[in-house]
Amino acid sequence: MTGHWALYQDTLLPRQDAKTDIEDRGYQFGDGVYEVIRVYSGELFLAEAHAKRMEKSLRELSISFPDCSERVIKGAQLLVEAEGIDDGIVYLQITRGAAPRVHQFPSKDTVPVFTGTAGPLPRSLELMGQGITVLLLPDIRWLRNDIKSLNLLGAVLSKQRAKEKGCYEAILERNGIMTEGSSSNLFIVKDGTLITHPANNLILNGITRQEIIKLATTRNIPVQEVPFTIEEFFRSDEAFICGTTTEIMPITQIKTLDSPDAVRSSALASGTPGPITRKLQDLFSDLVTRCGGGS
Ligand code: PMP
Repeated sequence: MTGHWALYQDTLLPRQDAKTDIEDRGYQFGDGVYEVIRVYSGELFLAEAHAKRMEKSLRELSISFPDCSERVIKGAQLLVEAEGIDDGIVYLQITRGAAPRVHQFPSKDTVPVFTGTAGPLPRSLELMGQGITVLLLPDIRWLRNDIKSLNLLGAVLSKQRAKEKGCYEAILERNGIMTEGSSSNLFIVKDGTLITHPANNLILNGITRQEIIKLATTRNIPVQEVPFTIEEFFRSDEAFICGTTTEIMPITQIKTLDSPDAVRSSALASGTPGPITRKLQDLFSDLVTRCGGGS
């Protein structure tokens, strides 16, 4: 993000004045958590849910950060106002703080470092109408993907691989079961039912994922949170990924790697966004418009 401002310990600073210690544990170990909050028409979208998830991630890592929700929302608002964001995103991060480098937790008086930035991001409306190509890869990440931690190397390597193969996202498989995308959740539709991986340690329980499940349920679209296989994914009637920046992105094409250089490509179902995906996109856009006051 290329904003002019940064949040540092609850306070706005000109971006170039915001600095962290060389022994910040976020920098050395990825020992911290983060959130990305969407902004539509200058309003934070689902900010409370993001703040609550940040609290949960902090709890899982035993990082003590009093009044987390209030501070996260306040910090995000400060950044949105300072940068004059219309449609955009806010990035917020809390690390365990700076301390001499040993793996175990530092002394209790170590102060967590809370930072943030914000920048504009237009909605990808064209791509959402068109659909995307994804690359199927093994899920090489750790076993606590429910924590939104700064340790993102598995995601970084997967997304880079996808980009090199001309794909928008890497979607990941563990022991034959589809888990999620490198930075998104994955849904399929089969015989009118929406299916997504259960919210356990193998995936991040996306705020967008939760919103989609609520939207579907209120519209009597059946939802199952159950594991599904690679074969079920390939045989699905529709599929999409979702996330805070991605919204609801239809998958129309899947690439697989027979070897590092041999890419195989196949259309998902008709190769165009399906009707339930489109319906959910419309419902989600209504929500965005209501929350953001128009977009
Ligand atoms: N899974 C992973 C691994 C992610 O990084 C993200 C995006 N942060 C998501 C799912 C989607 O989560 P959300 O809808 O909360 O952005």
